[in-house]
Amino acid sequence: MSAPRVELDIGKVRDNASALVELLGRSKISITAVTKATLGLPEVAVALIEAGAAGLADSRIENIERLRDAGIDAHVLLLRSPMLSQVDRIVRSADGSCNTEPSVLRALADAATAAGVTHGVMLMVELGDLREGILPKDLPAIAETTLSLPGLTLTGIGTNLACRSGIVPDERNMHELSELADRIETSFGITLDVVSGGNSANLEWLAAAPDTGRVNNLRLGESILLGCEPLHRRSLPGLHTDGAAIVAEVIESKRKPTMPSGTAAQAAFGDPELAVDRGEIWQTIVALGRQDTDPDGLTPPPGVTILGASSDHLVLETTGRVPPGETISFRPSYGSFVQAMTSPFVACKPVTSVSG
Ligand SMILES: *Cc1c(COP(=O)(O)O)cnc(C)c1O
Repeated sequence: MSAPRVELDIGKVRDNASALVELLGRSKISITAVTKATLGLPEVAVALIEAGAAGLADSRIENIERLRDAGIDAHVLLLRSPMLSQVDRIVRSADGSCNTEPSVLRALADAATAAGVTHGVMLMVELGDLREGILPKDLPAIAETTLSLPGLTLTGIGTNLACRSGIVPDERNMHELSELADRIETSFGITLDVVSGGNSANLEWLAAAPDTGRVNNLRLGESILLGCEPLHRRSLPGLHTDGAAIVAEVIESKRKPTMPSGTAAQAAFGDPELAVDRGEIWQTIVALGRQDTDPDGLTPPPGVTILGASSDHLVLETTGRVPPGETISFRPSYGSFVQAMTSPFVACKPVTSVSG
């Protein structure tokens, strides 16, 4: 098998999705399962639908087209505001998209009309995290624009917190979203099908909330894939946290001193870490570097310590010699996982059990 590679246990992803569908179902909240970290891997999408996700979502049209090319006909939402240059592709492959800009809505309406389809619109509201979103005071006007355009249907409103500024989903901002939903429905005499409260960062709010108000949907990626929540990166009870691994191949393993010798200046990626003289160790190198993943988000297996990383080399301390050709398997953070998935040097293998 090629290395480096991402191994993803599809059974564990399916289990996690099922457990979350069950948990959120108790609060009458549906799950839109987010496929972006796997670049729309069809095997994952199938497992998510089997697990009971109400639909799929991805931030990139390329990934959505990959799902469609694989014959997946589930409801798919584009999570990122459409680029004007991509509206024709978007109305063809995505059932709906998240939106904040009237000019984009008009372009989507034209594209949908030309393609003879109806495109769903989820209006995203800014509630403090300062990434995408319509200011609450501007929501009624943009809702009115959406309702007036042919080819579009206003399916709901949503918000996204925690991703840019780390703003925590709580009683206050979720209550504000519910109030906005009520206000839009009353003003325009409509019913919003979806009030989407956020992403995996909303799971703590959900666990603590006595009342989830109008929120009836969450868009979940990381929690399904890695079994943890993103605010404190705590593992979620009952979920697998070992469904994904990055597997790298050993290319050198030698007894070496811990102290470099010679005059020290900058290393390839800034100042080198201060070395402490611990005598000689087993230093093992795997063919994995910053061009493959984010080494800072890797957890090595027991008995292995990460000493440093450059573009193509990950330098490890091991308890003994590990012969070239052997592989070492790391648990990735969400960031490391995404970077590995998007590296042209790393293949992704859906597997039934990940390497040790
Ligand atoms: C990525 C993304 C999500 C999923 O976030 P997770 O933290 O992986 O659950 C949800 N909504 C939007 C708008 C996103 O961009």
